[in-house]
Amino acid sequence: MEMVSLSPCLPAVSRLAFGSLTVSPLQACPDTESAADIIAYAFERGVNFIDTAQYYKNYHIIRRAFEKYGRAGDVVLSTKTYAYDRATAASAVEEARRETGRDVIDIFMLHEQESYETLRGHMEALEYLFECKSRGIIRAVGASMHHVAAVEGVVTLASRGIKLDVIHPIYNRAGIGIVDGTADDMAKAVAKAHGLGIGVFGMKALAGGHLTSSAAEAFDFVLDKPFIDAVAVGMQSYSEVDANIEYFESRVFSDEHARQLAEKKRRLHVEEYCEGCGACVRRCPVKAMSLEEAPPSEEVGEFVRTYTHRAVVDTEKCVLCGYCSGVCPVFAVKVY
Ligand code: SF4
Ligand code: SF4
Repeated sequence: MEMVSLSPCLPAVSRLAFGSLTVSPLQACPDTESAADIIAYAFERGVNFIDTAQYYKNYHIIRRAFEKYGRAGDVVLSTKTYAYDRATAASAVEEARRETGRDVIDIFMLHEQESYETLRGHMEALEYLFECKSRGIIRAVGASMHHVAAVEGVVTLASRGIKLDVIHPIYNRAGIGIVDGTADDMAKAVAKAHGLGIGVFGMKALAGGHLTSSAAEAFDFVLDKPFIDAVAVGMQSYSEVDANIEYFESRVFSDEHARQLAEKKRRLHVEEYCEGCGACVRRCPVKAMSLEEAPPSEEVGEFVRTYTHRAVVDTEKCVLCGYCSGVCPVFAVKVY
């Protein structure tokens, strides 16, 4: 597995990172033991980099994977938080350390930043993360984003003396999931940040499944960019681990893996008992959800709908992140 330097603050990481959203309760993931087995298998095969988030609620799965693998200290662990002030950041750091069983968290990021203004709005949390870095319980501080403006904000921040160590932007050849621009716009901003010495690991190279039928081209698009150091890819099965490792190592998919990827169809499902509350619409980072009118008292099998609206997804925009699933009060939305 190709190893790269993401930041001088970190040990070398595998260019392929295990994106663990796919093994979290936000998606229809395998049970804890099976999910941990799959992650541990990826570690055994040379993937030493895993990305998660406080929001994914899967620290227990990663901890179990560490136990199964037996050499947790060799793995670079990245997580992120929506914390905005000192108290919420302190609580997020302690939760990550306690739940993953790691004294030191390698990368701690602000989750889903949108612009320079949101970065400034999270300054207390950011300062706390840097404080943890100086105390040695975090190795690198960063931010993740679906917005070009957030990458530009990171560059502005650096010009004012606050330089993040890493960023984790959405980036794919179709530009799917980039909220405020094109793939080109994102590339320009990320290249600028990378030029300042900020490490970059991309997300959603396959655009949440939209590009799996042309996975080789989609991976090549990001892997050929000099400003993309590593790429987190969501994996949910042994064959996905094998296929991705195979491609990152050789830039070729075996016929079997190419067929499996082309056949793999994940989708977002909204259950009939959706209450039309709109929480998922407000939560969706790429504005793929909306409410439509539903006939009142509609009979759907044994279920009688009494709500006037229901959620619908624009499948062209949806990147299957599952974030909407985390806010649904009745668990009516899930990625399968
Ligand atoms: S999974 Fe949900 S939150 Fe994520 S992009 Fe699709 S609709 Fe939006
Ligand atoms: S899917 Fe859930 S969060 Fe979205 S509108 Fe329906 S009930 Fe609300």
